[in-house]
Amino acid sequence: MVSLPMPRSITISFTSLFITTLFMSTLSLPQELFALDFSSKLRTDKQSLMSVASDFGNLTESIPASVFYPSSPHDIAAVIRFSYTNSAPLFVSPRGHGHSINGQTSCLDGMVIHMESLGQDRTDRINVSVANRYMDVGGEQLWINVLNTARIHGLGPNSWTDYLYLTVGGTLSVGGISGQTFQHGPQISNVLELDVITGTGEQVTCSKTRNRDLFNAVLGGLGQFGIITRARIPLSPAPEKVKWVRLMYTDIVSFTRDQEHVISVDESERVSGFVNFLEGSLLLEQGLINSWRSSSFFSKNDIERIVELTAKHRLTALYCLELVVRYDEDIATEVDQELDLLLGDLRFVPGFAFAQEVTYVEFLDRVHDGEVKLQEAGQWQVPHPWLNLFVPKSRILDFDAGVLKGILGKDKAMGPILIYPMNKNKWDSEMSAMIPDEEVFYAIGILRSATSREKLEKMVDQNEKILEFCSMEGIAFKQYLPHYRTKEGWMKHYGSKWDKFVELKMKYDPKGILAPGLKIYTSLLEDKYI
Ligand code: FAD
Repeated sequence: MVSLPMPRSITISFTSLFITTLFMSTLSLPQELFALDFSSKLRTDKQSLMSVASDFGNLTESIPASVFYPSSPHDIAAVIRFSYTNSAPLFVSPRGHGHSINGQTSCLDGMVIHMESLGQDRTDRINVSVANRYMDVGGEQLWINVLNTARIHGLGPNSWTDYLYLTVGGTLSVGGISGQTFQHGPQISNVLELDVITGTGEQVTCSKTRNRDLFNAVLGGLGQFGIITRARIPLSPAPEKVKWVRLMYTDIVSFTRDQEHVISVDESERVSGFVNFLEGSLLLEQGLINSWRSSSFFSKNDIERIVELTAKHRLTALYCLELVVRYDEDIATEVDQELDLLLGDLRFVPGFAFAQEVTYVEFLDRVHDGEVKLQEAGQWQVPHPWLNLFVPKSRILDFDAGVLKGILGKDKAMGPILIYPMNKNKWDSEMSAMIPDEEVFYAIGILRSATSREKLEKMVDQNEKILEFCSMEGIAFKQYLPHYRTKEGWMKHYGSKWDKFVELKMKYDPKGILAPGLKIYTSLLEDKYI
C-alpha cells in the first residue's frame, strides 16, 4: 500500500484584490533528493517557490516545496523516477508558460518543473525538416518561436492559438484552438509524433502507429499521463500576406447562420486555402477601445460608426464575424473575386465590412500588441476568471438569450467574448479532449479581467450561474480548459470515456504523481491507495 500526500485545496481569498500568500509548505522534501545528480537544479528559496505559486488566472495560490529547472528531458525523467520509486511519492507538475486559469500548473507541497528552463533560445530544441515538411519542437517552446523558425523556410503549422506566448506542451495538453480549427482541427489534430515522459519516469516516443494509447491520451490529456518533451508538427507553405476581414451584425441569427455557412464552404471549389481563419466575438463600445484583441484594427472613424450603429439599434453589443484569406500577390485578383462572391452571400449590416492587408506573421501575432499595452497599464496581472465552453450548434440561440443577453447583461465589457463554430469531424475522438456530441459546435470564450474585488466576486458568481443555466436548460456543453472540484464533475465531463481515462492513468501514472493541480487524481486514485 502506498501512502499519497493528499493536497489541501485553497479557496479564493476576497480579502484583497490579488490573492495573498496564505500557505507555506509544511511537508519536507525527502533528503535523498538533495544527494542526487540533478539536485543542483532544484530550488527551495522563497522567490523560486512564489514565482510558480499562481498562474495567469490569479485566482488561486499553491506553494510547492521545490521548483526544478531541468537542462534536458533526461533530468525530468530522473526526477520522476526518483519520485515514483520513493516510498512517499512526490507530486510533480510541469509548468509551461503558466497561462492556465485555475491553478492547473500548481503543485502544493510537491515539485513544479519549470519547463522553459529546457531552453527557449536553444536551436537544438527546434528543428525544421524542409524536405519532410515537419518540425521537431521542444514541449517548452513558445508558439511564437515556432512561427519565427518555420517562417524562415516559408512554412508554418496549420493550426494555431490566438495568442502565441503559450508553450507547445501547454496547448497540446488542452487542445489548442483558434480560427483555423474549423478547417484543420485543433492543434492536437496536427501532431505526428511525441516524446513523452510518463509518471514512472519512462521516456517514450509515441504516435498513431507507435504506443498509440499514450499518444491519444496525452493529446488534450491535461498533463495527466506524461510530460511532452518533443512534438513533431506538420508544416504547410505559409502565405506572405493575408486579408483580414471583420463584418458587423446586429442579430445573432444572421451572425451564426453566416459563420456556419463559411465553415461549410467546400474548399475544393475555391482558391486553395481560401478562408483559413474564422472567428467571431461580441463588440462593445468599451470593448472596442479597451479590448486587447481589437486594439489596432479599427480606425477612429470606424469606431464612431460602429458606436452609432450600436446606439441606433439600442444594443449593448454587436456581433463581429472575423475571417482571413491568404493574399499572396500571385492570387490576389482571384481572391478578391472569391471574397466578393462570399461576402455577397452573407447578411452583415450593409456598409459594415472592414478589411486590412497585413503580413501573415502580423496577423498570427496580433494579440501580443494588446498584451503589451495592458502590461504597461498594469492591467495584465489582474485576476482572470475566464470561462471557456463548447456549446452545441442546436443550442447556440438559447445560450445567447440566456447567457450573453441574460446573465451577462451589461457586464460584457472587461474583456473579449468569443463565439465561433467548429466541425466535430476535425477532432479525433480517440484523444483525451472532450467536445459536444454534435457535428457543429461553438467555442465560447468569456475572457474577462477583474479590476476590483467586487467585479471579481460578481464574475465568479456569473460563471457559476452560466454553468447552472446550461445544466438546467439541458444544454449538452463541455468545458474547454476544464475545471471541476468534484469526482462527479470530472466523471460527467469525461462521460463514457471516464473508464478509459482511469485505465490509462493507472497504466501511465500509476501513483498519481503528475499534474495534481487539476485535482482529478484525488478522486481517481484515493480509492485505490487508501
Ligand atoms: P501551463 O499553463 O503552464 O500548463 C497548463 C497545463 O498543461 C497544466 O496542467 C500543466 O501541468 C500542463 N503542461 C504544461 N506543459 C506541459 C508539458 N510539456 N507536457 C504535459 N503537460 C504540460 N487556448 C487556446 O486553445 N486558444 C487560444 O487562443 C488561447 N489563448 C489564450 C490567451 C491567453 C492570454 C491565455 C492566458 C490563455 C490562452 N489559451 C488559449 C489557453 C491556453 O492554451 C492554456 O491555458 C494552456 O494550457 C497554456 O499554456 P502554458 O504553456 O501557459 O501551460
